[in-house]
Amino acid sequence: MAAYDIAVLPGDGIAPEVVAEARRVLDAAGGPELRYAEHPCGAGCYLDQGDPLPESTVEACRRADAVLLGAMGLPDVRWPDGTEMRPQIDLRILLDLYAGVRPIYLHAGHHCPLKGYGAGDIDFVILRENVEGLFASMNGGVRLREETAVDTMVITRTGSERISRYAFGLALQRRAERLEGRRGERSAQVTLVDKANVFRSMAFFRQVFDEVAAGFDVDAGHAYVDAMALYLVRQPQSWDVMVTENMYGDILSDLGAGLVGGLGMAPSGDIGEEAAVFQPSHGTAPDIAGQGIANPVAAILSAAMMLRWLGDRHDDEEARSAAARIDAAVAEVLSEEGTGTPDIGGAMTTAELGKAVARAVET
Ligand code: ATP
Repeated sequence: MAAYDIAVLPGDGIAPEVVAEARRVLDAAGGPELRYAEHPCGAGCYLDQGDPLPESTVEACRRADAVLLGAMGLPDVRWPDGTEMRPQIDLRILLDLYAGVRPIYLHAGHHCPLKGYGAGDIDFVILRENVEGLFASMNGGVRLREETAVDTMVITRTGSERISRYAFGLALQRRAERLEGRRGERSAQVTLVDKANVFRSMAFFRQVFDEVAAGFDVDAGHAYVDAMALYLVRQPQSWDVMVTENMYGDILSDLGAGLVGGLGMAPSGDIGEEAAVFQPSHGTAPDIAGQGIANPVAAILSAAMMLRWLGDRHDDEEARSAAARIDAAVAEVLSEEGTGTPDIGGAMTTAELGKAVARAVET
């Protein structure tokens, strides 16, 4: 039986609360042995040790088979220039986690603010280029004489090629899951979301995407990011995999999460060639921290993504089937009207919802 070393970075605010539920469900899933080791990071760690992402934590992430992360940063703990600490973004750069995979899946009609959508009707993935784009300027922008400030959009051929390739691979994988009946019917497609009508950087991204698309038997299209914001609200059922520049992906991910019940429902994986970090799409939600009402579903689904990634990487069917059991347990629990934490219309606590999913996974 395979065993994996998992670096756990609980972080700040609600993050330790939801990570605890993710671990509860992983333990209940009965998959491969997971050897957890917790490591300090985040705003609390900065206050304790003067560094929000100690080198020892980064090294532990490099050595681990996968990383399970909560969320980091607190609004009152900032760098002298006024920016918040974002060690999770630093980690993406340090480990070259170029593919930000953000599945958007509707589990129950009443989670959706739009009329007429039911479970499975919204099912797409936002693939966010994670290490360049506008975020490449992070900590490196220019500020001149208290008059002018500049951040730069950085698009490279290497970065555009590898994220485009990842997108087509993901579309093929989703097509295979549909053929096996594990996903609802729709055609495989990859859509590049850009602003190629205005920016040279985006026109270049589109050119490289089209070159990569020519090598795959998958429908490829483009949409401007402003139009996509409209399409996601008007016809969220129409999309399969969309690839975006870093900043556009950051913004569209929150819109996508809003379609399926909010940030507490949106998992994510930040994936590179050598490492991967799995975390809920939400932040530390200081407004509800310590109250036991945070939704653990995004963290639980992120843990399932971690198992699936480990399963694919090590060709480990046991890990893949444990991931599928967790996904099915979440779907089963959320299919009952009124089940859930307050953000999705229920009255359960974080731990009650975590335990309900853990029970469903065991049965
Ligand atoms: P970041 O920029 O770090 O992603 P953010 O400023 O966008 O964070 P979040 O911390 O994600 O903000 O919180 C945004 C809103 O969503 C808050 O009102 C918060 O309470 C809510 N929220 C976030 N995560 C959850 C969750 N797991 N359960 C319930 N509500 C949540």
